[in-house]
Amino acid sequence: MTASNPSPKRLLVENLAWSNDVQQRDPTYFQRLAHAQTPTFLWIGCSDSRVPAETITHASPGDLFVLRNIANMVGTGSNSSSALEYAVCVLEVKHVIVCGHHGCGGVRAALLPENDATPNVNERIEPLRRLAHFHRKELDALPTLDARINRLVELNVQAQLDVIGHSEPMSRARKRPKLHGWVYGLKDGLLRELTSEL
Ligand SMILES: [Zn+2]
Repeated sequence: MTASNPSPKRLLVENLAWSNDVQQRDPTYFQRLAHAQTPTFLWIGCSDSRVPAETITHASPGDLFVLRNIANMVGTGSNSSSALEYAVCVLEVKHVIVCGHHGCGGVRAALLPENDATPNVNERIEPLRRLAHFHRKELDALPTLDARINRLVELNVQAQLDVIGHSEPMSRARKRPKLHGWVYGLKDGLLRELTSEL
């Protein structure tokens, strides 16, 4: 959907067309999917509208259990901890993917002075400010703000994997899922592997 100013009605019309298309190709598709979800992956990504998990991986409904928030972070709040717990302990996903992306606005904000208009975002990205401070020597040595953003995106992915790896739900997992850190390039649409457990 590329219309410059789509309305909510347009989304509903597109949904009807999608549902009809799917059922024409596979009449029992939704019946099978409604029975249960058995996703292989927990995807933790940014809310950024340009990084839709299913689209960029050609995934289908039922493939990914998804948690998206500003700058793909797993904090101490119940939002992320409940998603992690359910994915790891109940759905028993085989892989957890943390996916950051170049040019992330949340990461950029953590490298700039606080914006008084967004107190909730400020609170949200406080761990990123601490991470940037911890790595300030490496970040300050980079030539541009964009380069610092993209490096902090990588450091953040690694930091989130560390949090997940030591989280309480992971310690309770019957079979520990593999952890993967990826970064998505907005300019070429490609995912890059930063780190991957075998
Ligand atoms: Zn982002």
